[in-house]
Amino acid sequence: MSSQSDAFRYIRAKIDQLLTVMGTLPLRPEELDDDTLIELDPIGIVAESFAQVIDHLNQTNHALDLATAEIRAIFDSLGAAVVVLDPDERIVDCNSQALGWLFGGSERAQVVGRAANEVCHEADSLATIRRRADGRSQVVSLHGQAVQVVASRIVDERGQPARTVMLFSDVTRQQENELHLQLYAEIFRHVGEGILITDADSRIVEVNAAVSRITGYPREELIGATPAILKSGLHDDAYYREMWQTLRESGFWQGEVVDRARDGRLVPLLQTISRVCDGEGKTSHYISVITDISSLKETQSRLDFLAHHDALTGLPNRLLFGDRLRHAIERARREGHPAALLFIDLDRFKNINDSLGHQIGDQLLVEAARRLRSLVRHADTVARLGGDEFVVLLEDRVSHETAAHLAEKIVTAFKQPFAVGGLALHVGCSIGIAVYPEDGEDDVALLRNADSAMYRAKDAGRDCHVRYSAELSRATRARIALDSALRAAVRDGGFLLHFQPIIDIWRGRVVACEALVRWPSGPEDARQPNDFIPLAEETRLIVPLGEWILREALATLRGWHAQGLALDYVSVNISAVQLAQSDFPERVVALLGAAGLDGRHLQIELTENVLMHDIDLCAQVLARLREHGIRVAIDDFGTGYSSLSYLKQLPIDNLKIDRSFVRDIPGDVNDCAIAAAVIGLARTLGLEAIAEGIETQAQQDYLAQIGCSLVQGYLHARPLPGADFPGGVAALEGRLAETPGLTGAAAP
Ligand code: C2E
Ligand code: MG
Ligand code: MG
Repeated sequence: MSSQSDAFRYIRAKIDQLLTVMGTLPLRPEELDDDTLIELDPIGIVAESFAQVIDHLNQTNHALDLATAEIRAIFDSLGAAVVVLDPDERIVDCNSQALGWLFGGSERAQVVGRAANEVCHEADSLATIRRRADGRSQVVSLHGQAVQVVASRIVDERGQPARTVMLFSDVTRQQENELHLQLYAEIFRHVGEGILITDADSRIVEVNAAVSRITGYPREELIGATPAILKSGLHDDAYYREMWQTLRESGFWQGEVVDRARDGRLVPLLQTISRVCDGEGKTSHYISVITDISSLKETQSRLDFLAHHDALTGLPNRLLFGDRLRHAIERARREGHPAALLFIDLDRFKNINDSLGHQIGDQLLVEAARRLRSLVRHADTVARLGGDEFVVLLEDRVSHETAAHLAEKIVTAFKQPFAVGGLALHVGCSIGIAVYPEDGEDDVALLRNADSAMYRAKDAGRDCHVRYSAELSRATRARIALDSALRAAVRDGGFLLHFQPIIDIWRGRVVACEALVRWPSGPEDARQPNDFIPLAEETRLIVPLGEWILREALATLRGWHAQGLALDYVSVNISAVQLAQSDFPERVVALLGAAGLDGRHLQIELTENVLMHDIDLCAQVLARLREHGIRVAIDDFGTGYSSLSYLKQLPIDNLKIDRSFVRDIPGDVNDCAIAAAVIGLARTLGLEAIAEGIETQAQQDYLAQIGCSLVQGYLHARPLPGADFPGGVAALEGRLAETPGLTGAAAP
């Protein structure tokens, strides 16, 4: 018998047969014993059938029990809750999941037969859920979980509703997964990076829009192709071999790749490839993420250019030049040929920059760079090291002669004026030359030596070129050392003033003094002003130093006044650099005010060269000083280039006859004549004359005789420290009083 219904049909037939037999008998079935049966059914047909039927029934019952247990087990282990309702919404059956989920953990016996709404612990009644889920799947929220409900109706043989089976399954996880998938899909679609997915055989199975945007290939052309379609040919096989090896070993590769877009353009990419494995650990896909780094590369190369070039002139800067120089030396060393370096510094650039402004200065530098470039060969490097310093590096077929020849060409070209801002500006240049290997065996030495040769060219009068020599480098080094020592002394107050009396011999009195600076802690050969003032002027250190000198001189004079030493004035040497400061008069006046002195207590000493440097400026400055009563002397008169006309134009009080004209008086007729002429000139113009460097009585006697009453010199006193000065003056004036005839005799 193949199915249950067959079994039932068979049993039913047998029972009918039996009942038919039994119905013919006067006996009830319980009275039917074996003997009676044998009697009734002698051949045992019925008995046998009956036994068979019983046996069959047993078997069928057993099969039914098994099937029921089986169904229940399936029912309970569904992973979903199942509730069976009758048409009155009474619970007919439910599985264990439903007991837990919907009926607060009750026993099955407690719920079966009861109205669904009485036992369900949910806010929404089962009846409501059933109606909503009738015939279609519906997701409801149970215990905060997303639950999918399907309610299926079962009808009886007459087509009337008999049962409703409700199936509840938890779809929270599934919903989360769906959400994730949606999210990933969105990311995939919109992310700026290109995402390209291949299968294990490197066939492209999916790409996002960014891949098409970056490569120019539409999606359809990429799907099914391999990534080789994007190869640029710029990477060799070894590159790809290495990439695959890394991918195989670590499942991950990252690097920069240059691919070729559909239109032939090269696209630099940052690429990351990850291997994806299936459950068994076999490669299923490769995911490749590409980022277009073209603009990054452009920015990088722009930054690189900026880092290596001078923003103003566009020439290589110090950094790039250093690189080129090292390479050039390396090559010259390998190939055994020379390389030459020209260190070029513009002359008078500072003046132009200071007086005409930075804008003009900048334009001038641009023009200078252009002119320089036009003079050298294409292969030569021209760089700007900073300020007005340029260098030219010559590499090919160089000799001392070619380097000197080019330097000459540059010097000549730079003598031509530069047309800037409607002006014709004259700037020359000084060039130092150093040739590898003789003048320096590495980049540092070569540059340093070309630089010091350039300084030699400046010293030699500018507008020229000088080749480096070892001897000149020593001088430069000494200069640098002196400069830093000077700076420290200015900072730390390492200077002193000495004062030399200025004497009126007719009156036998010290009337004034000259302040002379000393550097007692300076290097032994640089303690006298002639040794360090020129460098201080060049480096402009003279500005702070000069200010200190003025302040100190005025304070000292003020102190002597307080002690009763009534000098008329202190005479202070002023350099051209100080005078050129636009606020110089105001500074001097402020210092006078701070010392509590009058303008007439100060005399400034200027040399003729200072005056002649910029006569208009001097006239303005001196006029402003004069407004405050400050005196002006021309120092070392007769030694500079002077046009005597300025003596009339400028507010001058005093001419100091230079020691060189005094030295050979009275023996040298020429010097005597010069001294006499200066004294005559002074008298005519209503000026005073002071004779400097009087060492002998004979000199003084002669000068007195030709009408010079003011003198200064070792004959009377050497420059003295401030503290010794009052005592020195007293002794000196005592001596003068004791010298009979001096005061009276020579007076005119
Ligand atoms: P100067 O202004 O012509 O100063 C006179 C120089 O002659 C001083 O030298 C002084 O010591 C020296 N002298 C004075 N009488 C005699 C003498 O009888 N015989 C000889 N052989 N020399 C005499 P010093 O102090 O060495 O100064 C040299 C120069 O340095 C000064 O020449 C001046 O141009 C400059 N100088 C000195 N002090 C200062 C200063 O404070 N500021 C500036 N800017 N320059 C200064
Ligand atoms: Mg002087
Ligand atoms: Mg002098």
